[in-house]
Amino acid sequence: MSSIFKNDLDDDRLSELFRSDEKCYEFLANLKWSEGFTCRKCGNKNYCQGKTPYSRRCTKCKAEESATSGTIFHNCKFPVSKAFYIAYNVCKGKENISTYEFARRLSLRQMTCWNFKAKIQNALQEIDSLTEREKSSIQKILS
Ligand SMILES: [Zn+2]
Repeated sequence: MSSIFKNDLDDDRLSELFRSDEKCYEFLANLKWSEGFTCRKCGNKNYCQGKTPYSRRCTKCKAEESATSGTIFHNCKFPVSKAFYIAYNVCKGKENISTYEFARRLSLRQMTCWNFKAKIQNALQEIDSLTEREKSSIQKILS
């Protein structure tokens, strides 16, 4: 989770991500497969484009992995760019934005923002309570 934002992103890059779902998928895919693609099911390294944006499909067993699977953005019911905005502000933000304020800024229901914020905070807390070694493995999963 926090490893998503390990490197500081500049304001231009951030506003690009906050405006475009496509850029978010691209960002997550680059992060997830930064060391190349390996199929989770069979270990094959070759892939082709999957059905959803920036997803990858194994050429051997046909298993498909989306850019968001294994991350906090998986199965998110609202646009990933908005989820990204909340996640970034909760993890890195200097101001403490209330869920009402998130809802206003993003045109989402307050409850939606509250749920997603709680999900992020739980993930962060879980990471905090682990040993260093566990942390690095879970961050790999969450990122
Ligand atoms: Zn495979």
